[in-house]
Amino acid sequence: MRLLTVVLLVQVAIGIGLVAVVLSGDVPLVGNLGIGESAGSGTPVEAAVARAPVDRFDEARAFGWLRRQVDIGPRPAGSPESRRLARLLRARLPGGRFQAVPGRLRNVIGLVPGRDPARTVVVGAHYDTKDEPGFVGANDAASGTAVVMELARAIRPRTLGPTVVFILFDGEESPRGTADEDFEMAGLRGSRIAAPAYRNAEAMVLLDFVGNRNLSIPRERNSDPALWYRLRQAAGRVGAGRVFPRRVDAPIADDHLPFIRAGVPSIDLIDTNFLRGPCWHRPCDDLRGVSAQSLDLSGETVFELLRTL
Ligand SMILES: [Zn+2]
Repeated sequence: MRLLTVVLLVQVAIGIGLVAVVLSGDVPLVGNLGIGESAGSGTPVEAAVARAPVDRFDEARAFGWLRRQVDIGPRPAGSPESRRLARLLRARLPGGRFQAVPGRLRNVIGLVPGRDPARTVVVGAHYDTKDEPGFVGANDAASGTAVVMELARAIRPRTLGPTVVFILFDGEESPRGTADEDFEMAGLRGSRIAAPAYRNAEAMVLLDFVGNRNLSIPRERNSDPALWYRLRQAAGRVGAGRVFPRRVDAPIADDHLPFIRAGVPSIDLIDTNFLRGPCWHRPCDDLRGVSAQSLDLSGETVFELLRTL
């Protein structure tokens, strides 16, 4: 009897100890219980990959592109500075070429071929800056252009299913003095030319304000809900879930609109807090307000989304 009592006490002690270890988080409870192997949303392999650190996007290179643009100074559409930047972007985009836009403007277009020649997705940003004195547009939209340039370098040919077409839009901003209600006809000049040529694309991902500190990007209401859901899932897998809250914000007229009108499911990554903040279209949209980490969170997320399309 006494021996049995001792054995029971020891077993109880071991049990309490195990519970304590699990509760303390030292043991990967999910892995032990095999939840990752259950049927459902993901295979065991996907579950394992999801928890692995992801580093496919080089934020230092991306930030180099951001800085290079800001160093040029103001780059309004059609200016010598903008045209010089366009030549540089064309030279560095894989398969880089110009697409003429009325008013002597030019989109810069490149591509990375996928495994399936019949499939195309578009990733875009605008490379012109609002024509305001001293405005260098570090976030609006050197940030988006920088992420596009680094994605185009980092994605290797024939590693993804669809071909990724990268479009850097000219003339997104309307000329100085344009009334707000005239923006859609006076701005979005490059995207209105580009969209009809890519009406067969499966998806369009626009990167606009993606470099500001404390990045938080809700779904703007024009953005396709299903594609946005996939973006948020991708963000979760690369540890960027906090950047994309579940919230929906007001619709925004941006370079994705012509693609939506052409029938392409499209989303716009744009931090609406920045849009309502003190530095939108102001000289303080400079290097002080942007971070390489924000570029990384955006870049890793979009890369992961593209892998799953
Ligand atoms: Zn702007």
